Amino acid sequence: MTDSNVTDGAPDFDPAALKEKYAAERQKRLRQDGLAQYVQPRGQFAEFLDDPNVEPGFTREPLFDDVDVVLLGAGFGGLLCAAELRKAGLKNIRLIERGGDVGGTWYWNRYPGAACDVESYIYMPMLEEVGGMPEKKYATAPEIWEHTKKIARTYDLYKDSLFQTRILSAEWSDETEKWTIRTDRDDVFTTRYLFTAPGPLAHPKLPGLPGIDTFKGHTFHTSRWDYDYTGGDNKGNLTGLADKRVAIIGTGATAVQAVPHLGKGAKELFVIQRTPSSIHVRADRPTDEEWFTNQKPGWQKERMANFTTVFHGGQAEVDLVSDSWTETFFDAADAVAGGTFSPFQMSNFRKMEDARKRIDTVVKDKATAEALKPWYNFFCKRPCFHDQYLDTFNIPSVHLVDTNGQGVERIDETGLWVNGVHYEVDCIIFATGFEVGTSFTTRTGINIIGRNGETIDDHWRDGFRSFHGMQVHNFPNFFYIGGLEQAGRTANFSHMISEQAEYVGFLFDKGANHGTKTIEVTEDGEAAWVQEIIDLVVKNKQASQNQSFQEECTPGYYNNEGAPSRIAIQNGAYGGGPMAYVKVLHDWCDDGTFAGLEIHEPPKV
Ligand code: NDP
Repeated sequence: MTDSNVTDGAPDFDPAALKEKYAAERQKRLRQDGLAQYVQPRGQFAEFLDDPNVEPGFTREPLFDDVDVVLLGAGFGGLLCAAELRKAGLKNIRLIERGGDVGGTWYWNRYPGAACDVESYIYMPMLEEVGGMPEKKYATAPEIWEHTKKIARTYDLYKDSLFQTRILSAEWSDETEKWTIRTDRDDVFTTRYLFTAPGPLAHPKLPGLPGIDTFKGHTFHTSRWDYDYTGGDNKGNLTGLADKRVAIIGTGATAVQAVPHLGKGAKELFVIQRTPSSIHVRADRPTDEEWFTNQKPGWQKERMANFTTVFHGGQAEVDLVSDSWTETFFDAADAVAGGTFSPFQMSNFRKMEDARKRIDTVVKDKATAEALKPWYNFFCKRPCFHDQYLDTFNIPSVHLVDTNGQGVERIDETGLWVNGVHYEVDCIIFATGFEVGTSFTTRTGINIIGRNGETIDDHWRDGFRSFHGMQVHNFPNFFYIGGLEQAGRTANFSHMISEQAEYVGFLFDKGANHGTKTIEVTEDGEAAWVQEIIDLVVKNKQASQNQSFQEECTPGYYNNEGAPSRIAIQNGAYGGGPMAYVKVLHDWCDDGTFAGLEIHEPPKV
């Protein structure tokens, strides 16, 4: 329920005025260059990608051998699939990871305050299999990273991992029925199966600001946090900044977690804001040990399913997670008073009104409080859940630099310019997010070449085509894990990956055996899945609803920077919702006929 005052059955906000305000704020932020406003950290910016967590100078001999399975990425996607493949009896597998250890997102994102907004008991997969009790309702980055290492140790994956290695290309051969993998360590080896789990938010992006290459001070991206410079650790204590003027560009989910620590540590902090995030209650608390240890077998999958069901408006007897993601903010009085506004829109206004009121109760300076208010619908941008971020702006040395939706003008040798004002700083931190919406190859740097020389980008040029969001016709023995397209999509990313990994485990346990040559979705199987994606979205009227919702949203990576793509339906998530997607996978496994796939065994002699 809400903490707002509703008097006489009428909402204490004017929906028509809010709609107008949202539209005006969106208009301010629309830009011609859309996605092109960002630059990749390549070429002269390549050092933004350097890994500060490893010793420089790592070398090893290249490999020229043959394995059964290659998994790209040792984040949750790669690890969970590898674990399921192990359970299915596959021994000769190889994980390839550009970082110096397993962990993916949680290897890279070590910035102070990094933690997960999704409840630890459902976000940290395989808790029942590998053991361990999360310390709190929401886990910190180091705790989640430890958990990924535990999964790797439990399934003996370290000995099969190549770290600090990037796959450059994977090419299918019909002759050998294998993939040839080439890496930046000069490896050239073959594998029968190829899994890619690159993560949807893995490639940092930088704003293409004039003068970005001229800054003479210190600079880095949040996913490559430089503790040598700042001092401290994930808990803060950034003593290296005590005599530094620091600017952080961006106010998304990353900045929201880092800013409280920067605010405490820096001599002066400038938080450069283009669009405010909506900051909702986090209410973290220690795990109740008795409650945790008394959970019945199967509890974690049940809790994951319950969260995803409740969060997506499904029927559930109880809300097990019960947090700011799942809370009901529907108010019947608002809905009745909404007139031409739908109940959904009215409750969305309510949720954002509550977030705006929270700012007024915490932030003392009125102008700063006003500037921190988000003016868009809930879920136009990733909501944030934090109980210290807003309060940080009450510290005298912390300055909110609001750019009125326009962003930083330019950077020069000594600092940056906003609204014609120069801010001289020692350090600029880019909290500007990750590449989303570019092609697979652009984003990952991996050229995947299937049958007849067709690249994966060619195959997806006119829209994503897959089976279950994972398999692709003409790309035999290839599995794409954790993609945002044509699969279930929900706030708890690791729930969907767990389901995909179990599907893979089933396929290898029951469908493929050690002699299996190829597993491939038929042309018809792929076409049918694509059609199902489109039909479901259209049938559920989600196409028009999603399109109009996104079109009214302020720009960001959720809506292709304000220009929802023409192929958004085909590239979208499974239209029935994430739990319907899970049911499809379960039903398909229960059916046991491997419908849609061709599984080729070697000829019997
Ligand atoms: P985001 O893409 O969410 O945020 C990037 C920020 O940079 C935005 O505030 C953006 O403003 C700003 N920006 C970009 N260009 C400029 C510019 N030229 N001038 C000023 N500001 C600029 O990246 P994050 O790393 O914050 O988060 C990415 C995702 O990672 C999240 O959405 C979430 O899914 C996940 N995440 C989850 C966490 C959790 O569980 N707690 C924590 C951290 C990340 P604008 O909004 O105007 O584009």
